[in-house]
Amino acid sequence: MLSPLLFCVTVIIAGRGKPIIVSYQYRLKPNYEQRCRLNSWLEKLRCQYNYLLADRFDWWENNRTYIDSCPLICSIAEPREQPEYYRQKRSLVQLKQERPWYKDIHAHVLQDMVKRVDLAFSRYIKGDKNGKRSGKPRFKGKNRYRTIGFPSIKADCVNNNRITFPKLGEIKFIQHRPLPDGFTVKRALITKKADGWYVTLTLEDKSVPSLTVDIQPTEENSLGIDSGLEFFVACSDSTTVKPPKFYRQSEDKLTKLQSKRDSRKLGSKARRKLNQKVAKLHQKIARQRQQWHYELANQLLDKADVLFVENLKISNMSRRNKPKQGEDGTFLPNGQSAKSGLNKSFADAGISGFLNEILPYKAAKAGKKVVKVNPKGTSRYCAICLNYVPKELSDRWHSCDCGASMARDINSGILIKKVGLGVRLTIKRKSSRSEEEKPAFCCLSNERLEYVMRTEDQGEVRFSTASAIML
Ligand SMILES: [Zn+2]
Repeated sequence: MLSPLLFCVTVIIAGRGKPIIVSYQYRLKPNYEQRCRLNSWLEKLRCQYNYLLADRFDWWENNRTYIDSCPLICSIAEPREQPEYYRQKRSLVQLKQERPWYKDIHAHVLQDMVKRVDLAFSRYIKGDKNGKRSGKPRFKGKNRYRTIGFPSIKADCVNNNRITFPKLGEIKFIQHRPLPDGFTVKRALITKKADGWYVTLTLEDKSVPSLTVDIQPTEENSLGIDSGLEFFVACSDSTTVKPPKFYRQSEDKLTKLQSKRDSRKLGSKARRKLNQKVAKLHQKIARQRQQWHYELANQLLDKADVLFVENLKISNMSRRNKPKQGEDGTFLPNGQSAKSGLNKSFADAGISGFLNEILPYKAAKAGKKVVKVNPKGTSRYCAICLNYVPKELSDRWHSCDCGASMARDINSGILIKKVGLGVRLTIKRKSSRSEEEKPAFCCLSNERLEYVMRTEDQGEVRFSTASAIML
């Protein structure tokens, strides 16, 4: 039997004064008619989504001008009002008149689709609340629009093993775990996945004040975590975990299936069946990875109350290399093929999802804390004496004149912990004892390392660590 973990995606939004919100995912068992109706809804929503998105692009292309240049040469389009969210929402009334088959879809579901257009487009133009812009939204091809959203649903919609959806009626579902006590159902999403239909219920509890975690990190209760490809995580307590490589394990099988599928005739039944197999294999890989991530998060949280992790931007690391051009215009090797392999490994490990979503979620649930630390310099300094030890990416071992000798990632893990605890890596000292500048010293007593760092203003900062592997 599959573990319940595979079926549950849960999110807690915690914050002062905000109610606790959790999402539970269950497997939906619609009958044949319900399946047909859901599929037809998805198809209609997809068409309208594409239409509204195209409307947005049209307006944007015809009406934008650069602030600092005069738009005399550009073609002048007939001016019309910008198709923003409320305008597009109002257009639904007309849509239902012109295309009466859209009346079959619940009004809230249609509005939710308009909201999705708005979100996709404004993230592309303006960026999200942090100002981070997404890529250009794509038109959704067949089977690419998979979710029906009910932004509001009756609180008593769940009855034994059935959920009542507006317009759709009662649909059977597998309640593998009960809804938590005191929570009411707020929203519902119906999603079509490779192996069937799922419903995600968003539950809210206003009565429970949300957990505010207030733990002061100390030397004893904290753990520094460095993440990378050689080791998925390397901790400051000198433990390491290798990345599992689920994708690489199934890569051969996947390639075989895909080439077999491609050899079948377009639109044939055999091709469709093979396509389903490919999708299921992808789903399996994703689930294996997710389960592994949750288990690892639990292991790490057992070790400490405060976890320091790097504030990494994986998307930058896995970006494609710039093309290199020779003088005669031919393209020169730019190292992309080697990097493609690296990118695949990055994606396979899923580091970003683990550090940014799963670990903070698990920590919040356990009443613990994950703190992001600026990773700058954490691979270049020595974790023991804090001197500057320059390294190439290929140098996998850290050895310093102070006697420190350990795997590069463990060195980083210890440094991340220190940076999290307040050490600043700004003093550019060279690792050389002959230098006139006195290096910060360290001493070993009872397997417990104590060392003193001299700060720029001649002050002293003391640290200790229980790790004995360093010397
Ligand atoms: Zn050192």
